[in-house]
Amino acid sequence: MDEQGVKEIVDKAPEIMRKIRYIEEKEVMQQFLYEIGHDTGLATYGEEEVRKALETGAVKTLLLSEGLDIMRVAVKCNACSYEKECTLRSQRLTNLEETLNGKPCPKCKAPALSIAETKDLIEDFAELAEQGNTEIEMISDETEEGQMLKKSFGGIAAILRFNLQN
Ligand SMILES: [Zn+2]
Repeated sequence: MDEQGVKEIVDKAPEIMRKIRYIEEKEVMQQFLYEIGHDTGLATYGEEEVRKALETGAVKTLLLSEGLDIMRVAVKCNACSYEKECTLRSQRLTNLEETLNGKPCPKCKAPALSIAETKDLIEDFAELAEQGNTEIEMISDETEEGQMLKKSFGGIAAILRFNLQN
C-alpha cells in the first residue's frame, strides 16, 4: 500500500469507528424493541421500572440516551430525620432550591429543608449497574433507534436476564 492509501485509511478511521458504533447501537436497540414488541417480559423502560430491575440484579444490558439531562436529588431536613429522594431535570435544580427555601418540613414543620446530595442519573445508574454486573450502553441520538429511545422510552431502557413478572 502506498503512502497515499495509508493516509486515506487513517483519515477515514474516525468516520469508520463512528459507523461501527452506530451499527452496535442499532443492534442493541433492536434487541430491546424485539423484547418489548413481543411482550417477552425481558425488557423494561422508564426510570422507576429500570431502577427496580437494577436493584434486583435483573438487568443484562442498560440502555441510556447520551446527554440524558436528569439528576437524582436527596432532600433532607436539618432539624429531624426526614429525607426524600427525587428525580428532576438538571435545569430545575435552582428552582428546587428556591422552593425549599423557607418551606416547612413535612415531618417536623421546621423550615429546615435543604439539598443533601445531587447525582447525575447516569452516575447513579452506573453504580447500580456495577453492583448487578450489568453492561451499560450509551446510545447516541444519531440513529432512528436512538431517537426512539429518547423520545418514546424516556431515554432509559433495559434488557433483562429474566422475566420479573413471574
Ligand atoms: Zn424535619
